This record gives sequence, C-alpha cells and structure tokens, in this order.
Amino acid sequence: MIIITDEKCAGYSRYGHPERPARITATVERLKNQTGLPVKWIVPAQATDRQILRAHAPEMVARLKIPRDFDADTPFFENISDCARASVAAALDAMQIARKGENVFSLMRPPGHHATRDRSMGFCYLNNIAIAVLEALGAGAKRAAVFDFDVHHGNGTEDILLDREGVAVFSIHQFPCYPGTGEKDAGKNCFNYPVEPSVPRETYRATLARALGDLKNFQPELVAVSAGFDGYARDPLACGTLLAEDFYWLGGELRAMKIPFFSLLEGGYSSDLPELIFAYLKGVEGK
Ligand SMILES: [Zn+2]
Repeated sequence: MIIITDEKCAGYSRYGHPERPARITATVERLKNQTGLPVKWIVPAQATDRQILRAHAPEMVARLKIPRDFDADTPFFENISDCARASVAAALDAMQIARKGENVFSLMRPPGHHATRDRSMGFCYLNNIAIAVLEALGAGAKRAAVFDFDVHHGNGTEDILLDREGVAVFSIHQFPCYPGTGEKDAGKNCFNYPVEPSVPRETYRATLARALGDLKNFQPELVAVSAGFDGYARDPLACGTLLAEDFYWLGGELRAMKIPFFSLLEGGYSSDLPELIFAYLKGVEGK
C-alpha cells in the first residue's frame, strides 16, 4: 500500500473546526504503529495551473489568496492555497500510481468534493478528485468513474464532471443533509443514491452495493474514490450508521472489481477515523 501524505497538510487549523490536523496526524501515527499492512510512504509532487484549471475557473483559483473566509464552514488561511495545491498534487500522484496497478491512498487535507468549478465551500478549496479524473482523461483514459462514499453529496464533483464524455459519477450520501443536493440523478452521467438519516445499517450497505453494481456496469478503466468516513455511526457531523467493518467491506469490493482505482480522503470527523481508514485499507489490500 502506497500512502501519500505531507506534514504541510496539518499546517492550518481553526479552533473548534471538525476538519482538523489530528485527522491526518493521528492516522499517520496509527498506520506507522502497526505491522499487518506494509506501507510505503511518499510525499506529493506538484500540481500545475494547467491541471487545476481543467476543473476550476481562474478567478476561483486566484480567490484562494484573498484573505476573506469562503463561507462559515470554510475559513481563509494564509497558506491555504499551498495546502490545497498539495492535496491536488497528491490526488494526481495517486491517479498515476493507480494506473500503474498499485494500491494507493491519498491521506491529505483539505478534502475536495464540495468545491465546484467556481466556488470553495464545505471545508473544500479545490476539487482534488475532479482534477485527477480530468488529468486521466487528458492523458488518454477513455472511461473513468468517481465512486463517492462520503456521507455528504459530492456536489462539487457533480458540478465539474456533469455530462463529461467518458466519465460517470456515483455518489452515495445522506439526504437530506449538507449541502442539500443529490436527491436525484443529474445530467446523463451523475448517479445519486440518497440514504435517509439514521437509515438501518443493512439498507445503507445495500445502497452502497447497488451503487457498486452500477459502477461495475459502467465498465470504467479507472475508478477515483472519494473516501469519506463520515457515514460512520459515531461521526459527529451526520446520522450515518456504518461501522469499521463496512469500510473494510467497501475496500474489498473495490479490490474485487479488478479495475485500477485510487482513493482520496474526503470527510470523517470522529476520533475513530484512524481505525476506519485502517479498516478500509486492509480491505483494499485484501488483508
Ligand atoms: Zn462529508
């Protein structure tokens, strides 16, 4: 398992904000203090403007340097442009590594799936996964899919990839919930699987299984996974019902498709996040 991370991504925080540096630092510590899953650690390279501008408006990228909060959930930080670009770079590296057939996880912050073409929002500044998918298409991939199991709808990914030739987006999320979208499918290629708050765990898992079936039927040559762990039963931000073993199962199901895939950390705000990520990675690795 290759894990891409960078201490830079723990270098911004606002007191009391759930999207905090310990999400990464505690997970790194957990994964370094285990022997069951061999890990090769790497740091991200760099993302270029050309890569980022495939997904975002130039004004939106410039806005990252203007010292004003983006919304109540999404504060401005002096170094947020650098941190967001490092998170994009890790996504791009993960995509390249997956295309070579290796298991890879990007353990970075900020997350990205709420960032739309024009707007940073919902703890997200640049849309890491959409940028990586567009790069894969630019590099010659013919069919790529996004599988987003974060408990929140990947509205930004949908906004950027809507009706793009050769791409399909599958998002399983709680509805109603932030950001209020994702009740129905969108365009020709964005498939949404809403689950009700506090849905029985078996129903949540059956919905994930249905989305995985549809993903497989799309026959992508590459799958980009928005791995959010906030569908967890004890997550403070939503009313999900999943347990660590469900994330293990998800990792195993993605592995069983035998299609190259890479995963990027999106949400997950419980103090159990390191265990949830560890469970998922064991599933991915077939351990
Ligand atoms: Zn989320």
